Amino acid sequence: MGDKKQKAYCIFCGRGENQVEYLVRSELGLGGVCSDCASLLNQMLQEQNREKNAKALEDYSLKTPQQIKLYLDQYVIGQDRAKKVLAVAVYNHYKRLKYFHGKKKDDDVEIDKSNIIMVGETGTGKTLLAKTIARLLDVPFCIADATVLTEAGYVGEDVETVLTRLLQASDYDVERAKRGIVFIDEIDKIARKSDNPSITRDVSGEGVQQALLKLLEGTVVNVPPQGGRKHPDQKYIQVDTRNILFIAAGAFDGIERKISARLNSNAIGYSAREERESIDKDNLLQYLQPQDLKSFGMIPELIGRFPVLTHLDSLDEKALRLILTEPKNSLIKQYKKLFAIDGVELSFEDAALDYFVSLAIKYKLGARGLKGIIETVIMDLMFSTPDDKQCKSVVITAEYAKEQIEKNGSSLLFEER
Ligand code: ADP
Repeated sequence: MGDKKQKAYCIFCGRGENQVEYLVRSELGLGGVCSDCASLLNQMLQEQNREKNAKALEDYSLKTPQQIKLYLDQYVIGQDRAKKVLAVAVYNHYKRLKYFHGKKKDDDVEIDKSNIIMVGETGTGKTLLAKTIARLLDVPFCIADATVLTEAGYVGEDVETVLTRLLQASDYDVERAKRGIVFIDEIDKIARKSDNPSITRDVSGEGVQQALLKLLEGTVVNVPPQGGRKHPDQKYIQVDTRNILFIAAGAFDGIERKISARLNSNAIGYSAREERESIDKDNLLQYLQPQDLKSFGMIPELIGRFPVLTHLDSLDEKALRLILTEPKNSLIKQYKKLFAIDGVELSFEDAALDYFVSLAIKYKLGARGLKGIIETVIMDLMFSTPDDKQCKSVVITAEYAKEQIEKNGSSLLFEER
């Protein structure tokens, strides 16, 4: 005991510093935690976490598809079909998880998971939908970009790094990560590059698709905790992907041509002409089928692992106008809030809002471009009002908006496309 008074020791097992491999010293005195006790504590904490998570899942009251859709409606304009499909898929996924946890040994029905693939022009709300759902469900959510992935051994990132992001999103709580949602963006960019795979090895296209297969179907994957390229000396975290919901999305530019070709070639026979005429040629995405993804360059095995396929409509003038003001955290509400924090009431004339939309349509900037337009218009005001103590309210008129766009609208933003 006397010895311990002079030498640092572990307050859990009582061993002195020289008797243990490593001692983390407390700043308060000689007491500390030795490496053995630390790892034991870690195990205990993990066990506790596991129990907590299992309990959380039990308590988790499933939101019904209609409730999920109602929630999505508050944040995402239009896209009714995609919302419904997503709501059902997510509902089933979590129902399956509950069942999986409470399953009795002799119950041999396995419910397969239903990963989702969303096709739609960029800026139509694919990421927004996935993010909003993740917020509602309170599960770890991450966005991974398929374009940086390459087949193992080539410059780029291994597919397992997709799960690194999920681990980061769950603060490395593996149990939570195991029922999270991974959003894989730009999945269309890993389409097979050519119809003839033998010319050169397609390491960022088909190679990645192959590598993704095992992740999607549900296996235990060795995940590098810090991401990047895997290397032999690294410690991995094992993650079981069986219960992770994968939502992939892509613009699939030009897929309409594949759909159109299929529709035309299918329509053979005496009713073919009638059928062809009833096709809504401006909205071909609504006829999207898994085989169109195959024609685009996705391998059938990968398509098969995304049983739920849905599309997003392109946003018309009316939708863009609604996006400005209607969502719970719409752009206009956000800017109003920014000004309100400085004690300034910001408002927009309807004509100014219509003008923003007309610009976004004219220059094909989509919903994403609306933010840039508003920023440009109110930049000068954001610069000056914080110092102007007299200024209590600002009204943005269409004239002011036009003036600002002509003065500051960057040529880049408004290049004719
Ligand atoms: P993508 O389809 O390329 O994933 P995003 O979901 O990232 O597009 O959309 C970009 C931004 O545009 C969103 O953050 C949101 O502000 C706005 N937006 C796009 N579509 C919608 C929509 N349907 N409803 C509301 N906002 C939208």
